[in-house]
Amino acid sequence: MNNYMKLEFTALSENEPFARNAVAAFCLALDPSLDELSDVKTAVSEAVTNCIVHAYRGMQGKICIECETEGDAVHIRISDSGRGIEDVAKALEPFYTTSEGEERSGMGFTIMQTFMSDFAVQSEKGGGTCVRMSKYFGRNKSSEVANAE
Ligand code: ATP
Ligand code: MG
Repeated sequence: MNNYMKLEFTALSENEPFARNAVAAFCLALDPSLDELSDVKTAVSEAVTNCIVHAYRGMQGKICIECETEGDAVHIRISDSGRGIEDVAKALEPFYTTSEGEERSGMGFTIMQTFMSDFAVQSEKGGGTCVRMSKYFGRNKSSEVANAE
């Protein structure tokens, strides 16, 4: 049977570690390697940070994360109801950022695409953003296992 969970939390930077660790804990049942788990945590961290920094820009808002397992894969959906992205193709380009004078490198989406097996973004201006990512565990399995019992 597929496993499923849904988290909804306030878009505050102190909730970013909570979100990435909650998703990682959910993934443990799939027996990921430490490297795979680290990839998922990094991707979730980038997506959640984008919601906090770009979608709401310090305004109050909620972030929703849904995770579902399917065989040796986890599918993750991270959504906000913030300002949305006018040109998604442009936003996905490496080094593209709308943050001026801030410490943003424009690499968040590129990192998500690199670290996850599948990745897609759905967004429109004023309509919020939804990032869908999947990770297939065990494809490059090493002997190091994260939840050895
Ligand atoms: P970095 O992630 O390296 O700190 P960044 O956040 O600007 O920099 P990306 O994460 O690649 O880079 O995002 C690219 C751009 O896409 C952002 O600058 C922003 O304009 C837009 N964007 C990303 N996520 C969202 C979101 N959830 N809501 C609105 N705009 C977003
Ligand atoms: Mg980013």
